[in-house]
Amino acid sequence: MAGRNASEGGVLVEWDWWTVEFGDVHAGAAGVLIGGGEPGPVYFDVGSGPNVPSTTHWTAYDGRSRRPRAEALRAVCACGWRGAAEYPLDWATIGDRPLYEADVDLAGPLADWTAHLSVVRDRAVPLPEPPVASKSR
Ligand SMILES: [Zn+2]
Repeated sequence: MAGRNASEGGVLVEWDWWTVEFGDVHAGAAGVLIGGGEPGPVYFDVGSGPNVPSTTHWTAYDGRSRRPRAEALRAVCACGWRGAAEYPLDWATIGDRPLYEADVDLAGPLADWTAHLSVVRDRAVPLPEPPVASKSR
């Protein structure tokens, strides 16, 4: 499960979790919640230029450079699935550190996404019928 980048409508989508089994169809990430909803992508101020990089990666929502600050994280999947549980970010602990340097625990969202994958797996691959050996004559 390595990180993987894909460009979607000009927005850099950066998945945190990726499996060979499901590929881009079910790529997972920690999604940001602000005010109970998903904020739009944030833009990096990299000076002038036609291409201002934007991202929805959770580490970008750090409240720096006028970017919004993430209030909570939840698991999201490329298929549109969203985790039910929300994991609030403890900014008192994070302090002024950039989010990617803060030791944010993604175990909760990752576990939710992993559970989602096993549900998908169960649906996609029905249990094989045991071979019926008919030996009665
Ligand atoms: Zn999915």
